[in-house]
Amino acid sequence: MEDCIFCKIVRGEIPARKIHEDEDTLAFLDIHPVAPVHFLLIPKQHIESLSETDSAHQQLLGKMMWLAPRLAAAQGCQDGFRAIINNGRIGGQEVPHLHIHIIGGKNRLPAMI
Ligand code: IMP
Repeated sequence: MEDCIFCKIVRGEIPARKIHEDEDTLAFLDIHPVAPVHFLLIPKQHIESLSETDSAHQQLLGKMMWLAPRLAAAQGCQDGFRAIINNGRIGGQEVPHLHIHIIGGKNRLPAMI
């Protein structure tokens, strides 16, 4: 996607502090961290949101879920972290490229619900 900010990061057109990259996914530090550890895990392929996935994306989604705790541990969150996917406008999604927020590094995150 030409104008997508995360696609631009994938293409190397804007800088990011990358912590992981493979053929399918990229993880980089969030530019406005809300906790000591806050990074985003994205598919390299432009998928607008979780709602825009279909059965062909199951392997990719599984890989992202598998990667999340491993990347979190590598960032120092061996004892726990929060994974958040904001989905769509009502879900608070600001960047329309699927991403998982991985947040941690505090003693204990407050309960959300
Ligand atoms: P959303 O509200 O779930 O879409 O979250 C988007 C996240 O992307 C926010 O936490 C932003 O701080 C983050 N973000 C936006 N632009 C950049 C960037 O260029 N680099 C890293 N993070 C970004």
